[in-house]
Amino acid sequence: MKMVTVRQRVDIPLQDVPVTPDFVSFEGVLKEHIALVFPSPVAGTTPLVRVHSECITGEVFGSQLCDCGPQLREALALIARQGGVLLYLRQEGRGIGLYAKLQAYSLQKQGLDTFEANRHLNLPEDSRSFEDAAKMLDALGINKIRLLTNNPDKQAQLEQYGIEIEDIVPTGVYLNPHNRRYLEAKVKLRDHKIAF
Ligand SMILES: [Zn+2]
Repeated sequence: MKMVTVRQRVDIPLQDVPVTPDFVSFEGVLKEHIALVFPSPVAGTTPLVRVHSECITGEVFGSQLCDCGPQLREALALIARQGGVLLYLRQEGRGIGLYAKLQAYSLQKQGLDTFEANRHLNLPEDSRSFEDAAKMLDALGINKIRLLTNNPDKQAQLEQYGIEIEDIVPTGVYLNPHNRRYLEAKVKLRDHKIAF
């Protein structure tokens, strides 16, 4: 199994985030994944970790078809305050890429749900892997975390790759008229823990 090591750290101040994180790059990862590392305000606290997959439409443009933008901002605010790591994985559209995601959106306009649309395109419903995430944490010297998620698969995968999860911290629900079907599909089909 390929080793992942830290390549570089550089601190970058962020708008609307009160603490300046280190942006960390890595050797040995499949894509240009990064980690934003926030110092812990209390020594010895188990770091709060969000494993977040890239979503250009939601995060950069504020697409209302998903909840990735608000989830990312919530994660940054919480982790900045409590100390921990935001792992930002470059796996757009659950790993299918941006163009395929746009195709899937057009199928969803015809009534397919987010998972059916990927199947229709002969793409995996969810090709995300969290193995790199676990290795990046390991490279940062972190083996025990509090995980910020509503997705039970992330917990299972990280544990499988040797990360101990002390606690699960649920993320908020960011419902709007356009993303209700998407969020409902995640609850019904993937057992996400979201209360409407
Ligand atoms: Zn999104």
